[in-house]
Amino acid sequence: MVTKLPKVPVVVVGMGWAGGIVSAELTKAGISVVGLERGKDRTTADYAMGHDELRYQHRQELMQDLSKETITYRNTVSGKALPMRHYGTFIVGDGVGGAGSHWNGQTYRFLPYDFEIRTKTIERYGIEKIPAWMEGLNDWGITYDEMEPYYDTFEKMAGISGETVELWGKRTNPYPTPPLVKTQLMKEFEKAATSFGYKPFVIPAANLSESYTNPDGISRGACQYCAYCENFGCEYGAKGDPAVTVIPVAKQTGKLDLRTHSNVLELTKSGGKADGVIYVDMLTGEKFEQPADVVVVASYVFNNSRLLLNSGIGTPYDPKTGKGTIGKNYCYQVTAGGSQLFFEDREFNLYGGAGALGIEIAEYMGDNFDHAEVDFLHGAGIRSTQYGDRPIAVNRVPAGTPAWGAEFKEKSIKYANSNFPVKTQGASLPHKENYLDLDPEFKDEFGYPLLRMTYEYTDNDRAMGKYMSAITRKFAEEIGADIIDTNEVQAPFNVNKDGNTHNTGGVIMGTDPEKSALNTYLQMWEAENVFVLGASAFPHNSCFNPTGTLGALSYRAAEGIQKYLKEGGLLVKA
Ligand SMILES: Cc1cc2nc3c(=O)[nH]c(=O)nc-3n(C[C@H](O)[C@H](O)[C@H](O)COP(=O)(O)OP(=O)(O)OC[C@H]3O[C@@H](n4cnc5c(N)ncnc54)[C@H](O)[C@@H]3O)c2cc1C
Ligand code: SF4
Repeated sequence: MVTKLPKVPVVVVGMGWAGGIVSAELTKAGISVVGLERGKDRTTADYAMGHDELRYQHRQELMQDLSKETITYRNTVSGKALPMRHYGTFIVGDGVGGAGSHWNGQTYRFLPYDFEIRTKTIERYGIEKIPAWMEGLNDWGITYDEMEPYYDTFEKMAGISGETVELWGKRTNPYPTPPLVKTQLMKEFEKAATSFGYKPFVIPAANLSESYTNPDGISRGACQYCAYCENFGCEYGAKGDPAVTVIPVAKQTGKLDLRTHSNVLELTKSGGKADGVIYVDMLTGEKFEQPADVVVVASYVFNNSRLLLNSGIGTPYDPKTGKGTIGKNYCYQVTAGGSQLFFEDREFNLYGGAGALGIEIAEYMGDNFDHAEVDFLHGAGIRSTQYGDRPIAVNRVPAGTPAWGAEFKEKSIKYANSNFPVKTQGASLPHKENYLDLDPEFKDEFGYPLLRMTYEYTDNDRAMGKYMSAITRKFAEEIGADIIDTNEVQAPFNVNKDGNTHNTGGVIMGTDPEKSALNTYLQMWEAENVFVLGASAFPHNSCFNPTGTLGALSYRAAEGIQKYLKEGGLLVKA
């Protein structure tokens, strides 16, 4: 039996950064919002004395429970997909705050080049530079200059600590707080980078460098460099987290009806629009229908596509014909192309650190260097980070060391403080056969098909990884490491192994309803009262972590929803 509830103006599915921002903005404007979150509520108090590595890092308390819900995965369109049974690569958040509670906090803007990538690539290199398999590479329908005010709002809300970077788009304001401190490791990278003529910068961080009060009046304390950051909640509230920033603001308005343990199963529809959602109370098993004027889907990249496909909203993407949009342009990131350095007699105090603590160069990002003579597009950030090496999770040893036993123990201890990464994070551009759809076989506990991912690295990724690895090796030699392990080969994608948690695409934005699912307010072309928020809207993935950009787009979507509630109709002409 499904109990039908009274209609509300807006229902939001998922209470991470995307759902939290939109809930705060709408409730501040006096609009009532029902927020449905499948996990539990959380506040800073939940993380007090929470440096429990087993609980958070290894048993992944803050993450989606894969025994209850997962995705299936295959490398090619002709392969058979199998369920992801344990986390290796991306980790999916659960509960109020979503992955924004256990993220690292590296908070970037995308480049002006990203938003107009097709036009700018053709202008500089000609159409032939874009391979046929990359036909889905398109402009986003919005420019960096149009995005700038939304980035600014996100950064002020979260109090981002950083310094202006010359090779990025222009900023109207400096970062609200100064950059994090430079450790010895970062100073070594800086020295090497400067000697090559590059201009290194400290990575912009949502780990506050000093106490900060944001425009909503939310005050937070400074980061303690405690090292229990990635995969952990912050016991000081120093990490920008929706549960300590936007969600309390929405709660204070009295206009947010936050229902936790509420797992949305599908959207209901009639006459080309959504009527609302059906959800199940995970504590009692009761099912409810929540009608709404506007449905905001903010349930992360995977469930955004899955909910739409399971609800029959939007046209599924077909890789054979290239038609349809839901599931299209799934992108990941390039992880090959780094060097791990080991030293016999130098130490770096690696047990201290923060999720976004690091230093980087921008010279090889996007189109900041000439691609005429290379066989790939876009680029990578080259960086050294110091997250803080926790005792169970991190045992870096030189290549060739056995993975267990006496030698492994001896080298783990020897190099614990005497190693140093120079790594890269490369952009991922769309391949027509990398996509998301519904698995024909595997279902969740409620009988709904799981999402199936079809993904493999591309020639662009492999060429970029090789190119970037040579630059990281140059850094390693300049820094003067005794052992340098360089990884230049991008191995086949393995959902249980690869180490990057930035998924994008599936419900992408653009200007043409034939090629994109959303307009630039993240409003669906095919269902005007459905707004789909998150990195699922990115037409490709850049060389940056995604949250600054998905946060900025969430502010824009909140503006669009307010306009839609007043005027109705599509907010952008196709
Ligand atoms: C370990 C880690 C480190 C990261 N570090 C960085 C970083 O340094 N910088 C960066 O930019 N990004 C980082 N990210 C990525 C970042 O966390 C995400 O981009 C961001 O949090 C996504 O926000 P979101 O609101 O789109 O989704 P989420 O945070 O995933 O929120 C979605 C919410 O929806 C809920 N939900 C899902 N399905 C349903 C349903 N059917 N019904 C009801 N609720 C549902 C989920 O429980 C979740 O709370 C990191 C991610 C991880 C895992
Ligand atoms: S490193 Fe800083 S921001 Fe991260 S959990 Fe520790 S105190 Fe919080």
